[in-house]
Amino acid sequence: MSGELLRSIPSIDHLLASESAVRLTNDFNRDRVRNMLREISDQLRKEINSGMWPGIDDNRQNHGATIRGTEAAVDYIRAEIDRRLERQVALTSDPVLRRVVNATGVIIHTNLGRAPFAKAAVAAMAEVASHYSNLEYDLTQGVRGRRESHCQKLLSYLTGGEAAVVTNNNAAAVLLVLNTYAEGGEVIVSRGELVEIGGGFRIPEVMEKSGARLREVGTTNRTRIEDYERAINTETRLLLRVHPSNFRVTGFVKRPTVDELANLSRRTGIPVFEDLGSGCLVDISKYGVTDEPVIAQSIRAGISIVSFSGDKMLGGPQAGVVVGRQAMIERLRANPLMRALRVDKITYAALEATLKLYDLEKAEAEVPVIRDMAATVDYLRRRAILFAERISTALGDTIEITLEEGESVIGAGSAPQVTLPTVLLALKDKVLSAASLHKKLRSHVIPIIVRTERDRILIDLRTVEKEEEEVIFEALLSIHRAEPEGNNPERYTDIARGINDNLM
Ligand SMILES: *Cc1c(COP(=O)(O)O)cnc(C)c1O
Repeated sequence: MSGELLRSIPSIDHLLASESAVRLTNDFNRDRVRNMLREISDQLRKEINSGMWPGIDDNRQNHGATIRGTEAAVDYIRAEIDRRLERQVALTSDPVLRRVVNATGVIIHTNLGRAPFAKAAVAAMAEVASHYSNLEYDLTQGVRGRRESHCQKLLSYLTGGEAAVVTNNNAAAVLLVLNTYAEGGEVIVSRGELVEIGGGFRIPEVMEKSGARLREVGTTNRTRIEDYERAINTETRLLLRVHPSNFRVTGFVKRPTVDELANLSRRTGIPVFEDLGSGCLVDISKYGVTDEPVIAQSIRAGISIVSFSGDKMLGGPQAGVVVGRQAMIERLRANPLMRALRVDKITYAALEATLKLYDLEKAEAEVPVIRDMAATVDYLRRRAILFAERISTALGDTIEITLEEGESVIGAGSAPQVTLPTVLLALKDKVLSAASLHKKLRSHVIPIIVRTERDRILIDLRTVEKEEEEVIFEALLSIHRAEPEGNNPERYTDIARGINDNLM
């Protein structure tokens, strides 16, 4: 019986011609697929010989299937080999989540993982991740400590808030504040601030989930402090101000100032909460980014609690931070939702290390998003000229390359009106369309993401690390030398190793 099963294992050549194996050889080298198939067949033979598989006429369940008759055995074996092949591929292929080169010039690109971390943040994460830590242990008293204690002092110093709470992201922070302070009651918000941020974050929907009722005041373009005041009633729990982030209404526009709202809050005793979205720890207007509010200014003006993201302008890990009055923050911590929204040790480690890099001068050197914002157009032009020369020396026959004035943007809904001047490399391939060149760049061992425009690809070096120019160069070379590309783990590791050495 086991003989029959053994005989139904097809030959390796037969298996290599199967649909699933052929599909795989698009991504993997054929020898690798052959080796995988050989291992799987050997393993199956061993299992059958050792009696792990029931006989053909045996009706016992095996891996959820009942095997009856020779034909069924053949089908079953084939399906089992396919299953194992797919599992093997999933286990051994390149990670699904991987680094890419961002050559788009969009500094905080939500689709590309927002802020890259500062080296200090990476080191802190690695340290805490690879060992035990005092996440919830008080080293002075030798007793259980509070997770919330991490980053407290730093956040206080940097924002002026008395206390802070860190959540999974800013959306979670907003949910937590609204639920804690306004569940079952009303929140007054200006019609002009009922925004949708990308990725399905809509203020009215978060409000509904929090159990708070929305009380819209004013009109889309104009809302006065009197509108807020008139709407206050016994049900009012919170005054809300939302940074409009990814859009601006211009022209005949008015919204109450932070001072006016803080005053109204003082007079009425109703707390005021500001969702700053990105928020800056330091004033970055000297880079031309003028419409992002500094967090400390809102606190100083008397806003009761403020929330912002960790991975936008701050340049750290995905997180939401709420800062403000001690008593108010205490209530947030006591909300049972906090257990579901809290962050892990990795986030605290990265956040703490990133926060320590602020003042502006230090951040400019070490926090990637600040560094990219600070890069001057002269610096970018010099890099672009050198890089263009290098590409055209190597590939001048196939790629036409020009330099153009252009614009980088902040991204992630921050400072939507601000663009930063840059110099773009425009590449026109004499053989490939821009779309197919971009496709090849995206399938490079380290994928490269660019902008395309009028059948050219545009490279903005503002968001490209100096060392990553090598990746782009290597990709262009390999595309034109038609080297085997795609899934080659050895090459991937070589390149990644070289770059990491440069970075660390
Ligand atoms: C980005 C943003 C959010 C959501 O922040 P996440 O950290 O992405 O969850 C909420 N509110 C505003 C105003 C934003 O700009």
